[in-house]
Amino acid sequence: MLAGVAADAIVTRAVAPARGHTGDHPVMQRYSALSLARNALSRHRNWERAWAAREPKNAYDIVIIGGGGHGLATAYYLAKEHRITNVAVIEKGWLGGGNTGRNTTIVRSAYLNAPSIALYELSRSLFETLSGELNFNVMFSARGVVTLCLSEHELRLMRRHSHAAAAEGVTAYMIGRGDIARKIPLLDLSRTARHPVLGALFQPDGGTARHDAVAWGYARAADALGVDIIENCAVTRIRRDGGRVSGVATARGEIAAKTVAVVAAAGASQLLETVAVTLPIENVRLQAMVSEPLKPMLDVVVLAGATQAYASQSDRGELVIGGAASRSGRASLATLEHTIAALVALMPAVSRVKLMRHWEGTVDLTPDRSPLIGRTPVEGLYLNCGWGSGGFKAIPGSGFIFADTLANGRAHELAAPFGLDRFDTGAVIDERTAAAVAH
Ligand SMILES: Cc1cc2nc3c(=O)[nH]c(=O)nc-3n(C[C@H](O)[C@H](O)[C@H](O)COP(=O)(O)OP(=O)(O)OC[C@H]3O[C@@H](n4cnc5c(N)ncnc54)[C@H](O)[C@@H]3O)c2cc1C
Repeated sequence: MLAGVAADAIVTRAVAPARGHTGDHPVMQRYSALSLARNALSRHRNWERAWAAREPKNAYDIVIIGGGGHGLATAYYLAKEHRITNVAVIEKGWLGGGNTGRNTTIVRSAYLNAPSIALYELSRSLFETLSGELNFNVMFSARGVVTLCLSEHELRLMRRHSHAAAAEGVTAYMIGRGDIARKIPLLDLSRTARHPVLGALFQPDGGTARHDAVAWGYARAADALGVDIIENCAVTRIRRDGGRVSGVATARGEIAAKTVAVVAAAGASQLLETVAVTLPIENVRLQAMVSEPLKPMLDVVVLAGATQAYASQSDRGELVIGGAASRSGRASLATLEHTIAALVALMPAVSRVKLMRHWEGTVDLTPDRSPLIGRTPVEGLYLNCGWGSGGFKAIPGSGFIFADTLANGRAHELAAPFGLDRFDTGAVIDERTAAAVAH
């Protein structure tokens, strides 16, 4: 019961000024109905900046490379849980401009292996109270996730997932065609359907959250606790002194640090090469798209891995659609067409819906589709990357356990199985069947 233990072990503390708080980080202005009304009276001209644009200092205790969800959550929990605030998050572009602001926002935890279920369930449970904790609406909606099984093989695999979830105290179970028809009336379940739907894995407390709000909420709260958030500042090289990390070289000069954490997703391999460490990561392109806004028509998340398509409906009414990865080195129309064709085969009623926009992100895949969290062969240099196509859902949990790992200089018990050394020992955590689409 790793997952239950993990969630119970989290004791949230009230946010208070932390060690190292310099005083140049003002107290966070609270968002509330009252502050909305007050600011409406001044025509919304007096809202404070959510976080400050800071210049890098010469040295920090901890430098985090990457201002995506994982980097920002790590900085927040370092400040909040461990009172460590002499920390900089260094981002080469804008916060959330990597995969955190490009994903399809699905949150679930019914993975296959116990260490993964524990980590993703800790994260899912933190999502439930995140808006209140950060005083920032991350719009977590536990609407339920339906993973369709279109063959006997998938049915057997998803049954394994449901048993694994049950063993770890996570609610996810198999449902039949009747339940599926009630949950997704748009699905073609006729005898002439292109894809025979045999059953589904259902996680009722999975759902979606607003991706950029997660990044912004963590950034605002971390800044208020004393963390320096530095945007538009690429790290060009990691510096080492013998076997120990000594800091980073950036586009705005050198920064010394005793601890450096690489939380840079698709940029991680290149950064690690500067200290002669090779990561088992393949970067591939993943595309997604949204339709025009529609009336409410889909109130669960539906995944159909075998067809390479999945969808949910956003609060604005847009269908948020994701599909297969592309290894062509660029976004491809062929992949897009494939995803649309698959979705239309599942739900023919959407065939006339117009697409509004589509985009891509570069995801960092490990061979076992599980993340890399923990130490590297260089002392003081840590990793949190390799989240591939499924790391959005893990942001709160990963930030929590990685902050603990950095603060204590040893892996948190939930992080320990995800170390880089698993590719030497052979203790891999194969989660290829848990991905929303195969890649
Ligand atoms: C189309 C698509 C759909 C997805 N759908 C889902 C989903 O539904 N559910 C889910 O759980 N996951 C999903 N994912 C995966 C998820 O988005 C990622 O796993 C997650 O966002 C990774 O977060 P991160 O903080 O590690 O990386 P990122 O958000 O990519 O952040 C890394 C940051 O590091 C910065 N950086 C890189 N190199 C440097 C450098 N040298 N110096 C300074 N900064 C640097 C980048 O600019 C970037 O902002 C999807 C991904 C994509 C692309």
